[in-house]
Amino acid sequence: MRKIIFILFVFLFVNISNFANEIIYQDTIKQAKPTKKEQFEKSNLEKNKKLNDDEEFDEFEEFENLDEKSSQNDDEFENLEPEENKELNSNKQCKNMDEGISDYLLWILWILFFTVMAGVFVRFEILRNTRAIFLIAGILLMGFYRGACPCPISSIQNLFLWIIGEDINWQTTVWFLALIPITYFFGKVWCGWICHLGALQEFLFLPTKVKILHSEKSQKIMRIIRKILFVILIIQLLMTRTILFDKIDPFKVAFNLFATNTTAWILFFLMLISSLFIYRPFCKTVCPIGLVLGWIAKIPFASVIGQNGDCRACSICNNACKIRAITRDDKFSKLDNQECIACGECLTDCKKNAISFYKKTKIHSDKIDLKKLN
Ligand code: SF4
Ligand code: SF4
Repeated sequence: MRKIIFILFVFLFVNISNFANEIIYQDTIKQAKPTKKEQFEKSNLEKNKKLNDDEEFDEFEEFENLDEKSSQNDDEFENLEPEENKELNSNKQCKNMDEGISDYLLWILWILFFTVMAGVFVRFEILRNTRAIFLIAGILLMGFYRGACPCPISSIQNLFLWIIGEDINWQTTVWFLALIPITYFFGKVWCGWICHLGALQEFLFLPTKVKILHSEKSQKIMRIIRKILFVILIIQLLMTRTILFDKIDPFKVAFNLFATNTTAWILFFLMLISSLFIYRPFCKTVCPIGLVLGWIAKIPFASVIGQNGDCRACSICNNACKIRAITRDDKFSKLDNQECIACGECLTDCKKNAISFYKKTKIHSDKIDLKKLN
């Protein structure tokens, strides 16, 4: 209980300071940079003053047209932005991109470096225990420090927009593109070890005896919902050619305690409450990254987790796997690598060392016939 209160306290404290920072940031920008309209009005005032001084009454007619000109000029000012800034602003999702595209890219490269590191750590029992540290670092750095901006989900959407011919900064697609080979060689360690969105849900989860949506049927329905939402997301991107998800992203609300619309708040509370009783509900029901990275497990020689001949059907791994990638019925124990987040819990808990990493091949099986073991 004390642990939960402590986590909630840290959560609230960092959120409030983030919110305060946001207000200070906005005020500083306002004070430092007068808007173009303000600049134009100021120059008009100076012009008017000069004309009054010179008593050039004949030019009054020109003043009457100033308002009209002013609105025309406002439009012109829109085009006055330097080319570089214009490029940066296209499909810009958050203020962190103001820091410059090279710093943004450097930040992404660090994240990818730690993802590869996690891919190595999960293979060694002694290093596997550091997963919680990776997850906390993900929450603190990518979540609270960066205010969940940029978000990996924007990266996959940007990639899609780029494919359909939108003018997108290629740097914003690097995050997701690099996760494809990393997942191929190390498994979905991004989800299990680094992602701040997944980590937040994981820490909120309270493993109680009351299990909600735990049955195989419910899990299947959640997977179907995720696929449907993915199709809707693609259709929305095709139709609007803009990233609208950002406006309702519950994680932006979670890490900034700020939203511009009611839907975002509703989704945030839904995510918050469901995460208490369902392990990673957003990952299971919504996230397009988890879905697409899961498909990589189908590619030949991809890194997968599997049970071997030493399995004694004791069901310890079934209980260890909170994401329900390992399921069993009377006949089979199945390991669904599309759902596996490479957390390594099953590898640690299995005392027979019957679970290990493999390269996906035709002879490798995700299914163990329990009757043959007895
Ligand atoms: S499924 Fe999505 S939200 Fe969940 S851990 Fe993976 S990338 Fe993050
Ligand atoms: S099968 Fe489950 S417990 Fe094992 S590594 Fe994958 S997600 Fe973790």
